[in-house]
Amino acid sequence: MTAAYPDTQLFIDGHWRPGKGGRTIAVTDPANDQVIGQLAHAERPDLDDALAAAERGFRAWSATGAFDRCRIMRRAADLLRERADAIAAIMTREQGKPLAEARGETMAAADTIDWFAEEGRRAYGQIIPARAAGVTQMAIKLPVGPVAAFTPWNFPINQVVRKLSGALAAGCSIIVKAPEETPASPAELIRAFADAGLPAGVANLVFGVPAEISEYLIAHPVIRKISFTGSTPVGKHLAALAGQHMKRATMELGGHAPVIVCEDADIARAAQIMAGSKLRNAGQVCVSPTRFLVQGPAFEPFLDDFSAALAKARIGNGFDRDVQMGPLANDRRVAALQSLVADAVEQGARLVTGGERIGNSGNFFAPTVLADVPLSARIMHEEPFGPVAVVNRFATLDEAIVEANRLPFGLASYAFTRSAQTMQRLGLEIDAGMTTINHLGLALPEVPFGGVRESGYGTEGGSEAIDAYLVTKFVTQMPG
Ligand code: NAD
Repeated sequence: MTAAYPDTQLFIDGHWRPGKGGRTIAVTDPANDQVIGQLAHAERPDLDDALAAAERGFRAWSATGAFDRCRIMRRAADLLRERADAIAAIMTREQGKPLAEARGETMAAADTIDWFAEEGRRAYGQIIPARAAGVTQMAIKLPVGPVAAFTPWNFPINQVVRKLSGALAAGCSIIVKAPEETPASPAELIRAFADAGLPAGVANLVFGVPAEISEYLIAHPVIRKISFTGSTPVGKHLAALAGQHMKRATMELGGHAPVIVCEDADIARAAQIMAGSKLRNAGQVCVSPTRFLVQGPAFEPFLDDFSAALAKARIGNGFDRDVQMGPLANDRRVAALQSLVADAVEQGARLVTGGERIGNSGNFFAPTVLADVPLSARIMHEEPFGPVAVVNRFATLDEAIVEANRLPFGLASYAFTRSAQTMQRLGLEIDAGMTTINHLGLALPEVPFGGVRESGYGTEGGSEAIDAYLVTKFVTQMPG
C-alpha cells in the first residue's frame, strides 16, 4: 500500500502559494528513491512577505485573550486527531518510518498542542510586595514577539509542534522553516491550525535553502526569538548568529546517549526495551540509545539478547504490515553509517550483527551492533543517527559514570538496575538533560525535554517550556 502524496506550498499570511521565483524542490520517497512531489521554494521576497505577516500576526494574536487562543489551539488538536490516518500516510511516504510510528507521532502532536494550549492560560506573573505604601509592583509575562523556528526531517510534525505550540500559547506569531525532505506532513499540521481559525499571519511556513533563510530571518529586526533542532555544528552557527543580533534562542541539538546496564538489572527486559528503542525511527532520534555500557557478568547475556532482537527485526517499506523499521530518511545517513561501521571494525571492534546496506533501492540499513569498540573509533565520539549501537563493558559504577560523561554531549541517558542506591547516584551524576531508569519515559509534553553542554539549551517540554516564548516585564505603579 502507498498513498497519494500532495505537492507542498508555502503558507504566508493565511494563504497557500508558490514561491515568487516559481522554483520548486523535488521530494523523494526514501523507500524507493522515486520523486513523489514538488515543494515550493521561498526566495527573499517571500521571506519579506512572511516577516510582514508575522509582524501583523503578532499584533493580532498577542491581543487575543489566552482563553480564545486556547480554544483555537484545542480545535487544531482535534482536527489533527480526526485526520491522523491521512497525515500518517503522508509522513510515511516522505520520511519512511512505519505507519504506526507516523500515526503515533501525529496523535502525540495533538496532545502537545492541548498541553501548551492549557499552559498558555496559566502563564502567571507575580505581584511583589512593595517597600512603600501604595506602590504596586508587578512582574507580568508578555509574549517575546515573532519567532523563527528551524526543524529537521526525523520527526516532521513533532519537531514543529513543540515550537509552534509553545509560541502560539504564549501569544507569539511564528515563521517555521520546516524540512525540505519531509515537507507535506508539517504542512498538514499548519493546515489544521488554519482550519481551526488561527488568524492570518500568526503561523507562516517556508522552505528553501536552510542557510539562506536562517541568516536572513535571524538577523531581521522583526524576529525576536529563534528555536532550532538539528545537529550541534549547525546549532553552534545559528546560536552565534542569534548572539550577534542579541536574539533569544533555544537549541535542541545532537546526542550520543549512554545506556548503563548494571549486573543486578533484569537483563532480558533491558535488552528488549532497548532494542525497541534503537529501532524506533531507524535510530534517527536525538535521544536514541547509542553507547551501551554493560557490567561484567551481564555483558554476554545482554549482548546476545539485544543483538538477537535487532537481527530478527522486520525491516521494510513503512507501509508494509508488521514492519518494525523503515528506510533511513536520506542517502546521506547510509553513507555516514557505512563509514562509521567500517572505521570501527578497522579499529578492532567486533561486528556482532548488521553493518550493511540492505538492497539497491531505497535507504535501508541493517540494525547493527558493534561490541568491544575502542575509544579510537569515530563512532565513540560521533552521533551515528541511525540503527547502530556500540556495546562495551565496565567493572565499577564509577567507571561507567566517567564513560557516560566523557563526551561533550548531554541529552538523553538510560540506566537499568534494581538498586535504589545506584538509581539515586545515576539520576544525579550522569551529566545529561534527561535520565530514564528501567523504562522509557522521555519526551511527553508535560515533562522537561532538552540537553546540556553541546546538546544545547532550553527545554521544549514541561512547565518551563512556555517561558522560552515569554519575557518578564516589570511594572511598578502608585496612585497619581
Ligand atoms: P545537517 O547538520 O546538515 O542538518 C541538520 C538540520 O539542520 C536539517 O534539518 C537542516 O535542514 C538544518 N540546517 C542545516 N544547515 C542549516 C542552516 N544554516 N540554517 C538552518 N537550518 C539548517 O545534517 P543532516 O544530514 O540533515 O542530519 C544529520 C545530523 O543532524 C545527524 O547526525 C544529527 O546529529 C543531526 N540531527 C539532529 C536532529 C535532532 O533531532 N536533534 C534531527 C535531525 C538531524
